[in-house]
Amino acid sequence: MNLILLGPPGAGKGTQAKRLEERHGIAQISTGDMLRAEVKSGSEIGRQAKAIMEQGALVPDDIITTMLAKRVSQPDCAKGFILDGFPRTTPQAEALDRMLREKGLQLDHVIELQVDDDALVERIAGRFTCAKCGAGYHDTFKPTAKPGVCDACGSTEFVRRADDKAETVAARLEAYHRQTAPLLPYYQAQGKLSAVDGMAGMDEVASQIEAVLAK
Ligand code: ADP
Ligand code: ADP
Ligand code: ZN
Repeated sequence: MNLILLGPPGAGKGTQAKRLEERHGIAQISTGDMLRAEVKSGSEIGRQAKAIMEQGALVPDDIITTMLAKRVSQPDCAKGFILDGFPRTTPQAEALDRMLREKGLQLDHVIELQVDDDALVERIAGRFTCAKCGAGYHDTFKPTAKPGVCDACGSTEFVRRADDKAETVAARLEAYHRQTAPLLPYYQAQGKLSAVDGMAGMDEVASQIEAVLAK
């Protein structure tokens, strides 16, 4: 099963992709996580991407599509994958279509998480993750059970993303509306698109997604 989770920054793509990975044994592919790993390692891709990401703009299509082509060829993608944060532009969607065709694969569903811009700002402002295991949290909507301690691994170190500050969020939302939202009619025309109410609680969103997969 090959899925795309489509939605603005902070919509809950990563949160839901992790649940789908656990439930269905398919690989979460987050191009944002991959880019942050490149930045951290100081690679050539990381050097090119760092300033662009900090401005809240999109990294060039050729860098992203090359990175993604390598990723989907890895063994953990054999049962399928959940694309989280890719594609983000029409050229990326076209490259994905070509890539899948060459591999004899197809997309099963493109699921749009619909969330209002005001709610996104609040979600992004409160987002943090465990520095050790990567578990995701939110100051208000998903705090750790014990303050300052990761539920999943017990670590006491957490990180907030450099681009999750208020100044950058507006640029990221603008990039979404201008460059990524045109993918909604693109996948609608392919008959692949379903929308879920991303404003609902995390469990409710997850069950709406399962209902789409069962169709
Ligand atoms: P969010 O889920 O909050 O939108 P991501 O982690 O997906 O954030 O992406 C963080 C940043 O990484 C983006 O603002 C952009 O600079 C870059 N990025 C991630 N995926 C892509 C992509 N498919 N194309 C271009 N840039 C990307
Ligand atoms: P994305 O990957 O689309 O950028 P995330 O999954 O990282 O979004 O979610 C952004 C923030 O909002 C995180 O702190 C997460 O814990 C929180 N969050 C995710 N889904 C919901 C939801 N349905 N209701 C409230 N908060 C949510
Ligand atoms: Zn942890």
